[in-house]
Amino acid sequence: MKLIDNWKQAWKLKSVQVGAISAFFYIFMYAAFELLWQFGTYFPQLWAVVPEEIKQLLPHSWVAWLGFLSSVLGIFARLRAQPELHEVNQFVTVTAGHSNKDPGAVNGKFKEAELVSQFRNAVAYYLREAGIQYKTDGAGTLNQDLNSAIKLIKGSSVAVEFHMNAAASKQANGIETIALPKDKKLAQELSKAVADVFGSRLRGDNGWIDQSQSARGKLGFISNGGLIVELGFISNEAELAQFNAKYWTAAKAVAMILIKYSK
Ligand SMILES: [Zn+2]
Repeated sequence: MKLIDNWKQAWKLKSVQVGAISAFFYIFMYAAFELLWQFGTYFPQLWAVVPEEIKQLLPHSWVAWLGFLSSVLGIFARLRAQPELHEVNQFVTVTAGHSNKDPGAVNGKFKEAELVSQFRNAVAYYLREAGIQYKTDGAGTLNQDLNSAIKLIKGSSVAVEFHMNAAASKQANGIETIALPKDKKLAQELSKAVADVFGSRLRGDNGWIDQSQSARGKLGFISNGGLIVELGFISNEAELAQFNAKYWTAAKAVAMILIKYSK
């Protein structure tokens, strides 16, 4: 029998406390019946004085045993792990590209790693509001590295990392989501949600880029089952301005898609 993870803390559970009290109550009842029974055998004269109602109870000492057993079984039932109950309770992973040590692309005072951390925080905010379980590679300004982000993918119903593109040409623009072919539809939905808010165009196949077609080649986050959303070009002044003005709205749109997808 596999027990729940925190079974050592079980005494804190109300159902376990009630079960234990009830088990003690029944075992006490049983002991009391037994004592009376012995008493009756050894002191027949005194036994005659015992009220009839109490004697009536005696053959029912098995009731006390049953009560005791059911209390103990109840405690075990509460402590038994039921993984099937948790499968419906999966989590969403949202992470920010790059890290506190690696700023990613930079345009003036704006660093990709910082902008996408803000975006991750905003998406996490809306997931939390909706009561969705989620994991992130940090909160606030914390942005853990790629290895930490990849570790969060396993077990999540969907995992998304946010980046911003950069190009030598300041004209380069648009939104894209790099993902495995199995996630093509979700990738297109995510790109469209962001593009609609920022007023940007879609890159690739309606916003989806197959990782085999990506200029960066194989990406660890995607090979492990995640999706990378490129939230526009940090090198494009207009797209950068759109991001700074409207990223909360875009994050809400992204969160709505992830919530829908995770259900
Ligand atoms: Zn990046």
